[in-house]
Amino acid sequence: MDGQSPQRRHLFIISAPSGGGKTTVCRAVLDRFADMLYSVSYTTRKPRSGEREGVDYHFIDRDEFEAGIANRRWAEWAEVHGHYYGTSAAFLDQGLAAGRDILLDIDVQGTRQILSRYPDSVTVFLRPPSLEVLKMRLESRGTDSPQTIAVRLENAKEEMASQNIYQYSLVNDRLPDTIAALLGIIAKHRGGQKPLATQGP
Ligand code: 5GP
Repeated sequence: MDGQSPQRRHLFIISAPSGGGKTTVCRAVLDRFADMLYSVSYTTRKPRSGEREGVDYHFIDRDEFEAGIANRRWAEWAEVHGHYYGTSAAFLDQGLAAGRDILLDIDVQGTRQILSRYPDSVTVFLRPPSLEVLKMRLESRGTDSPQTIAVRLENAKEEMASQNIYQYSLVNDRLPDTIAALLGIIAKHRGGQKPLATQGP
C-alpha cells in the first residue's frame, strides 16, 4: 500500500483522449464497484445519438452554464472542443460526505482543478498506443466529421503532453487489459479488496 487509509473516500479521475473506449472502461468500473457513484458532467454540447440526459451527461445551454460559473456551481469546468464541460461541486461534496467513492471522466484541465481542490484524488490517464491508432479509432467510430476529428487529434496531442500530472498512465491497447489494470489500481486505493492471500489475520 502507499499509506492511503482504506477508509478514506476517494475521487477517481479517468482521462483519455476521445475515442479511447473510455465509456466502456467507466462502465466496467461501475459494474465492478457497485457502490461507487459516477459524476455525470454538465455540458453545452449537443447529445450524440444514443446518449441519454442525466446518464451520459446533463445537457444544458450556455446561459445556464455561464450562470453556474458565476455561482461557483462547478468544482471544475473547462472549454473542450468549443463546448463547456463541468462537474457539479454539490454532487461531489454530498457524495463524499455520504461516504461514497466517485468516478469522474474529465479532461486534463479539469483534473488540474480537481487536484487543487481535492488533492487526495486518484488520477489515471489512458493513452492510445499512438496518435495513428487514435486517428483510426476516431474515424471508425463514424460519429465525427473530418474537421472534428482533426480538432480532437490536436487536443489529444496536448493532453498527452500533460500526462505527467497523473499518478498512473496506462497504454490503452487492448480494452480488457486496460480494464483489468484500472480495476487493480482502484481496488488498491479503496482498500479491503486485496487478493485473498494478503488478507489477514
Ligand atoms: P466528449 O464530448 O467526447 O464526451 O468529451 C470530450 C472531452 O471532455 C473528454 O476528454 C472528456 O473527458 C471531457 N469531459 C467530459 N466531462 C467533463 C467535465 O465535466 N469536465 C472536464 N473538464 N472535462 C470533461
